[in-house]
Amino acid sequence: MTDFIWQTEQFDDIKILRYQVSTFDTLSTKEKKFIYYLSQAALAGRDILWDQNNKYNLQLRKVLETIILDHKGDRECSEFQQFLVYAKKVFFANGIHHHYSMTKFAPLFTKSYFQSLLESVSLSEELISIEQIIFDPLYMSKRVVLDEGKDLIQASANNYYAGVTQAEVEQFYTSPENQEECPISRGLNSTLVKKNGEIYEEVWKVGGKYSAQIEQIVFHLEKSLPYACNEQQQKAIRLLVDYYKTGDLKRFDDYSVEWLKDTESPIDFINGFIEVYGDPLAYKASWESVVQIIDKEACARPQKMAENALWFEQNAPIDERFKKREVKGVTARVMQVAMIGGDCHPATPIGINLPNSEWIREAHGSKSVTLDNITYAYDMAAANSGVLAEFAENETEKTLARELGSLGSSVHTDLHECLGHGSGKMLAGVTTEALRSYYSTIEEARADLFALYYIMDPKVVELGIIPSLETAKAEYNSYIRNGLMVQLMRVQLGENIEESHMRNRQIIAAWAYEHGKKEGVIERIVRDGKTYFVVRNYEALRQLFGELLAEVQRIKSEGDYLGARDLVETYGVKVDTNLHSEVLTRYEALGVAPYAGFINPVYQPIEKEGELIDVEITYPADFLQQMLDYGKNR
Ligand code: ZN
Repeated sequence: MTDFIWQTEQFDDIKILRYQVSTFDTLSTKEKKFIYYLSQAALAGRDILWDQNNKYNLQLRKVLETIILDHKGDRECSEFQQFLVYAKKVFFANGIHHHYSMTKFAPLFTKSYFQSLLESVSLSEELISIEQIIFDPLYMSKRVVLDEGKDLIQASANNYYAGVTQAEVEQFYTSPENQEECPISRGLNSTLVKKNGEIYEEVWKVGGKYSAQIEQIVFHLEKSLPYACNEQQQKAIRLLVDYYKTGDLKRFDDYSVEWLKDTESPIDFINGFIEVYGDPLAYKASWESVVQIIDKEACARPQKMAENALWFEQNAPIDERFKKREVKGVTARVMQVAMIGGDCHPATPIGINLPNSEWIREAHGSKSVTLDNITYAYDMAAANSGVLAEFAENETEKTLARELGSLGSSVHTDLHECLGHGSGKMLAGVTTEALRSYYSTIEEARADLFALYYIMDPKVVELGIIPSLETAKAEYNSYIRNGLMVQLMRVQLGENIEESHMRNRQIIAAWAYEHGKKEGVIERIVRDGKTYFVVRNYEALRQLFGELLAEVQRIKSEGDYLGARDLVETYGVKVDTNLHSEVLTRYEALGVAPYAGFINPVYQPIEKEGELIDVEITYPADFLQQMLDYGKNR
C-alpha cells in the first residue's frame, strides 16, 4: 500500500491522519473475531468521556450532529463552513475544550447565524438552550485549571465533581493514618457530589452512573471471551467485567494484577478508567480503550531493555534509598494499534505504561507498550513539514535528525515507558497524593530524565539498542529544540504552560540550559532575528540530566510537595513572551497544524446465518463521517 493516504485533512490547528494495521491480515480468524469484539468495546464508552469532560458536551454534540445532518439551507457559505470547523474541533477534542490546551473553543460564526441554524432543524427545547456554553468565553472557560492559588475543583470545567470545593475533595480523599499495604485508587471511578450538605460518590458501574454505556462495554467484553488468546487473558477479562458490574476498586486492582501476568498474548487491550490528567487533583480517571496487536519483529529492542532492567535500576544516578532492590516483570512490547477509543481517540498516545497504581507497580511490575504504527504514521506525515529545517541551527544537526531522529525518539519512548516509569520507589508511608497537582508533571519528568540519561549510556550501544551514540545526540538535539522552542507553538501567546508533559519538557530543557550556562553546555544563538539552541557538550548535558533525575526522584520518593512546586513553577510554567511570539511566527509561516489525531479503521463483521464467521478491515478517509457514525450507533 505505497499510495496509502496518511493525512486526509487539516483544519485550524489539527491534522487528521490514518494508521495502518499491517499485522491484521496475519491473524487467524479466531484472533480477528477477538479484535472485532474488543474494538466494539473500545468504541462503546465514548459518551462517558464526553460527559466526563464537561456536563454540556453530549447535549452540544447532539445539536451539532443534528444541524450537520439535517440543515437544508446554504452549506457552502463561509458561516456554515466556520460552523463545520467548530464542530470538527469539538469532535476532535471530545468536547468544547481543546484536547491539549484545555481552553474552550471560540466559534467564528455569530450567535444570530447559530440561531438560524437551530431554527432550520427540529430540536427539542431543552437541547437548544446551549448558547452560553458556545458563545460566552468566560463561562466554563477551561477544562482543567492548575493555577496555584485557585480552587482547582471549582475553577475547572470538567464534570468529575459537583458542588464540592477543593478543600472538601482533599478532605474526602485524605489517606487514613495507617496506610494499608495495597491501597485502592480511591475516587478513581466516581463523581463526587455534594447535595443537601452531604458529600458522596456516584460510582460509574452497571446500575450506577454511566450504566447504559458500561453495559455495552460489558456486553462486548463478554462476547470476546471465547476468542481470548489464553486462559490467563480470560481470567483478566472476567475480573474486568466484574469490576464494571460492581464498581469495586479492589477488583480493578485484582484485574490489573492478572492483566500484568498475561505477557504472552499476541493481542492485548486496555479498557477502563485509566488516566487522571483530566482531574486537577488526579483522583478521577477518564475512560479510554486501546486494542493492540503484537509486532514481533519490533519487539527485540524493548525486550533487551526489560532483560537488563535491574542493571539500569542499580546504575541510575539516584540516591540508593530510592532504588528498587529487585525489578519485577517489566514487560515491554511493541504493538500495533488496532482500535482506539475514549480518551485515546482521535488524539493518541505513542506509548503506554500501566497500571498506574503505585503499589501494584512495586509489587508486580508494569506492562509497557510502544505503539509503532502510530509513530510511523506521524513520521510519514511529518517527513516534509519543514519544522526541522526551520528550528535546527546547522546542517549537521539536520542531517543527524533526518537519519537518526526517528530511531532516537522511538528508543526514548521505549526507555521512558519500559524502564523510566517503573524505576525507583517511594519511601515507606509516602503516597503519590503528596505532590497533589504537581504529581503528573514530576512523574513525566522522572521518566523522561531516566530515558535521556540512559540513551547516552555506552551500555545501550553495547546491548545493540542503538548503533552508536550518534542516535543519542540526535535525541538530545531534538529534546532541547522542542523543550525550549518548538513545543511553544502549542500555547497561545500570553498564556502559561498547563499540560503536564509540556511542563515537564520545559522544566528539563530550561533547567539544563540554566545549570549548564557557565560551561556553555547549550548555546543560545540569534541569527537574522531567529533564535536557536545548540547542544555544545553532550556528555556534560548527560550529567545535568542525571543530576536533575536525582532531584526529581528525591521529590517523588519523599513526597516533597514544596520541592515539586518550586521546580515546576520556576522552570515549567512561564514562557518568555518574546521567544514565544517568535516561535509562533516562524511556525505559522510553515502552515503545519501542530496537533494530529487519527481516523480509526472499520472492522466489518462477515456473518452467516447470524454467526460471526470472519472480519474484514477497511480504512475510511472521512473524519467527520466517522464522528457522525460513532454518534449514530450509540
Ligand atoms: Zn509517561
